[in-house]
This record gives sequence, C-alpha cells and structure tokens, in this order.
Amino acid sequence: MSLKLNDKTLFQSKALIGARMCESSSGSRVEVFDPATSQVLGTVPEMNSRDTQDAISEAESALSAWRSLTAAARSDLLRAWFQLVTDASEDLATLITAECGKPMAESRGEVTYAASFLKWYAEEATRAYGDIIPPHQPDKRLFVIKQSIGVAAAITPWNFPAAMILRKVGAAFAAGCTMVVKPAPQTPFTALALGVLAGRAGIPAGVLNIVTGSIDSSLEIGTAICKSSTVRALSFTGSTKAGISLAEQAASTVKKVSLELGGNASFIVFDDADIEGAVEGALAAKFRNSGQTCVCANRFFVQAKIHDEFIQKLTAAVKCLRVGPGNETDVAVGPLIDNRAYEKVKALVADAIHNGAKIEAEGDLGALGGHFYPPTVLTSVNSGMRLAHEEIFGPVAPIFKFDDESDVVRLANDTDFGLASYFYSDDISRCFRIAEAIECGMIGINTGMLSTATAPFGGVKSSGVGREGGRYGLEEYQELKYICLGGIA
Ligand code: NAP
Repeated sequence: MSLKLNDKTLFQSKALIGARMCESSSGSRVEVFDPATSQVLGTVPEMNSRDTQDAISEAESALSAWRSLTAAARSDLLRAWFQLVTDASEDLATLITAECGKPMAESRGEVTYAASFLKWYAEEATRAYGDIIPPHQPDKRLFVIKQSIGVAAAITPWNFPAAMILRKVGAAFAAGCTMVVKPAPQTPFTALALGVLAGRAGIPAGVLNIVTGSIDSSLEIGTAICKSSTVRALSFTGSTKAGISLAEQAASTVKKVSLELGGNASFIVFDDADIEGAVEGALAAKFRNSGQTCVCANRFFVQAKIHDEFIQKLTAAVKCLRVGPGNETDVAVGPLIDNRAYEKVKALVADAIHNGAKIEAEGDLGALGGHFYPPTVLTSVNSGMRLAHEEIFGPVAPIFKFDDESDVVRLANDTDFGLASYFYSDDISRCFRIAEAIECGMIGINTGMLSTATAPFGGVKSSGVGREGGRYGLEEYQELKYICLGGIA
C-alpha cells in the first residue's frame, strides 16, 4: 500500500544498525497493518537476538566518540534533528495515523509533542551541572560530576509511535548515551522515519540503532537487551506485566531501569466545579487516541449534586464524536489498534453490564466494523466491576457517583496503579488537599491534558519507576561520580 508522503524516502522498511539500513540475519520479514482497514501497509525485518547483539555492538562502538563531544555539540545535533522532524511533521503524522489509527489532528499534535523533547533536551544537554560539596577535612575538595551511563536501550509501545521514542532518545543523547531502540511491532515505520531524519541531522552512525521485530520476536529482542552487560540502562514504556518481566531480566546485569507502565486514572468532578470545563476535560482525557493512552481517565467520579447534569452534558458531547478512519476529516475517534484490544474492551463492558451497569450513551459506528469501538458512557457502575481495576484502553467512560471528599479520595486510591489523576474544583483549598492526597505521579487540576516536555512524566505504585521529560528525565541516563581531591595545603 502506498502512503501519500511529500518525502517518500521517509518510508523506510529496513532496520537501522550502525550505518546500515538492513534486513534481519534470518531474512525474515513481518507485516504491518493499518488498524482502520486491516490492510497491509508494508513489511519490516523480523529481527532476532543476533541482530540485537549487532545493534548493541554498534552502539558500543559509537559511544566513546559520542560521549566525548561537548554538550554544546550534541545540543546542536539534537536541535538540527528537532528542525527536521518539525519540517517533516505532515509526513510523520501521516505515518502515525496509518499505523496507529489516531486522527490526523492528534497525529500532528503528537509530532509537535515528540519534537519538543528534542528541543528541550538540546537545551538541557548544556545544563548537566555537577556539584561542589563542602569538604569533611581541611585538605580535601569534593566534587560530583554527571556522566553518561553508556549504552542505553528503549522498548516502546504503539500508542505514541513518535513521542515515546523521542522522549527517551532526546534525554539519552543529551546525556551522552548511544541507543538501541525497539519500536512496537505495530508501529515501526514512524520509528524508521525518525531514524532517517537523525542521520540527515548529522547524528553519527551507531548512535541510534532501530531493531524492528514481530510480536513473536519481541521476547527474544527484549531478553538480548536485558542480558547484555554492555547495555547499562533500559527504559521501557508499556504494560505493567511486561515491565515487571523486563525488570526481572535486567536485574541479572544490574541495569538502571526506568519503567513507564499502565495507569488507572481517576477523574473527579466536585460539585463546585465548572461543569462545562469538566466535560471538555473529560473528552480530552478519555477519548483521545480512542482511549488508548496510559494517562486516560479510566474511572470518573462525580459528586452527587451535579452527577445528573454532568452526565447529561457529557453524553450529549459524546454522541457528537465522529468515529472513523483517522485520515478522514472531522474524525474524533479512530479504530482500536487490533482485534485483541477490541475484544478486551468488549469484555470489560460486557462484565460491567452483566453486573448492573447501564449504557447512557453510545456513539454511532454507521457501517464501520473491524476494530472500531463506539464512544460509550456507562452509569450505575461499582467497584466490583473489572473496569474499576483494569485499564480499559478504549473509548468507554464509566461514571461513579460519590458523596463526600474523603470517600472519593479513598475510591480514587483504591487501585494498584498511580500514573495520572484529574480533578475539577473551584475551591483552592480543596485543590491542594486533593492534589496531595491522591497517590499518583501526575495530577491535572481543571484540565484533562497535562503532558509537556518540560515536566516530569511518570508514575508511582505499579505504574512504574523513574521520570521522563523535564530536567529529571536526563538523570535516567546519567551516573553520578564523586571525586575527592586530597593534599590541598
Ligand atoms: P505491552 O504489551 O507491554 O508492550 C509494549 C511494548 O513492549 C510492545 O512493543 C511490546 O512488544 C514490547 N514488549 C513487551 N514485553 C516485551 C519483552 N519482554 N521484551 C521485549 N519487548 C517487549 O503494552 P502495549 O499493550 O503494547 O501498550 C499499552 C500499555 O502501555 C498500557 O498499559 C499503557 O498504559 C502503557 N503505556 C504507558 C505509558 C507511560 O508513559 N506510563 C505510555 C504509553 C503506554 P510486543 O507487542 O511484540 O509484545
């Protein structure tokens, strides 16, 4: 299938190892599908453990020269890459929509967001300051410097094919690390296009390596990364189950591991809130990317006094969301990524209905079939239902009713996850009380969108360890070295 790209050379179907765009050592290739049509978009190499080792060796060979560049020189290269990504944003958005399914407007937004990490880390690269510590003895002087951790690896999911990669790579390159990236098997073409642009920006061969795989070869690639003592840091974004498995394997080589895992975000609307604002925030926090984001609102808690009004306004808005292929105009909700995702959402809704939930609103699918799921609002839900504890990862909004503040804090925290959380209130004292009481890594107050390159992104509890973005994101790729200088007369 041919995509309409302004720059056709951005459609790469070979992996990137060192200076080579190459096939897998086995010669095997794997198909990539458009989730809206289930048509094959193309194929990429199905790489294995041996190919991954090659990529790690290339990253190791490139490390010494890369980390020896001045921070300013690496900053210039990141800035050049940022510019090329920005210039190619329409083509990159086309690739994202084709392989991930999200509406073009969202894909364009993702490219802007993804590129912003390159710009931010181009700036942060030059600010990796160390410390001077007051000495414990008169003849000593103590310093702390920050050094690149070495070769790093990234394993990324399909829901943000560009942003999940650049969020990691931007920080790693700024710190002076080289990298092996394994993009999700569903979305390798965006990753490979980013690789082409990195080369054009002047990033030296071997600094960025992209190993493509299939669902069948992912485990092999992951194991090769985890067991390699050359790879000193692993950054993973994906499900909690996979994150635990990778962390267990990586422990055998004592790597630094950062995990950006699943969520179960609460979205609380208090009776003093601006209801129209809360509805607008709910649409953004729930239905973006068809509900397939880790920071998606998973459970809505609405205070009794405004419960009916909020539902009436939310259902009216949800019925207006146009569902369709992401490359059609005015589409707000695209398909789910694949049949497995569709079946999971269907099963969670069936469980809720079986246990007494009521469908308050359901979007119109028209003649659409396949992986399209209608935007849905459920009421009469309770905490015994599966969707109260599992990530829905689909366009389904379950609404719980609550009476008072202490109850809703307890309900919101009644989950193993702790990534994002949202609430709407016009009471400033309450805003502080709730923000401090909710167990999560990120809080949106009176907004349904909180991600930015300048702030730390990450979770607590089973939602992960480590932070990406902001000045903290750089630390995942650095090591501290303490220097003690003695003999000062
Ligand atoms: P997933 O099944 O955990 O997979 C994520 C990626 O990791 C995929 O490319 C997968 O490849 C790969 N992978 C999984 N186990 C691996 C292993 N042992 N070795 C090598 N690769 C491995 O998650 P998903 O369903 O694709 O993505 C959705 C999940 O990601 C949700 O839970 C969501 O909340 C989370 N997420 C979190 C963040 C965050 O920043 N916290 C951001 C986005 C998404 P295969 O598909 O081939 O197994």
